Amino acid sequence: MSTFSPQSLARLSTCHPDLQRLFTEVIKHRDCTVLCGHRTQAEQDQAVAEGHSKTPWPKSRHNALPSLAADVAPFPLDWADRSRFIEFAHFVLGVAATLGISITWGGDWDRDGVPDKFFDGPHFQLEEK
Ligand SMILES: [Zn+2]
Repeated sequence: MSTFSPQSLARLSTCHPDLQRLFTEVIKHRDCTVLCGHRTQAEQDQAVAEGHSKTPWPKSRHNALPSLAADVAPFPLDWADRSRFIEFAHFVLGVAATLGISITWGGDWDRDGVPDKFFDGPHFQLEEK
């Protein structure tokens, strides 16, 4: 069984309890790394400048505290392997459904089952209930 690194755990601890519950379950089955939980204004400005986010502060779900979004990638990290992100995301969405947590994945914003042009593979965000 895989476990989170202390750094991943620290990042996950900035996230909403539902996201913590979700990824605490996911890590039991798939090794993964938490890249980002809450983002400060400086971190959000940087993410936008680098093209990782399209949402200016404070509108990203990463800017809420606790964070309503988590960036989690399959481990070891390989940005070039998009199919691995897709496979991992489907696993995460399946676990979320089992736990009754409504999640949108950044690879399929409109939830039509087709990966989107703005593909944010590790991004998972909670939906408003
Ligand atoms: Zn994100």
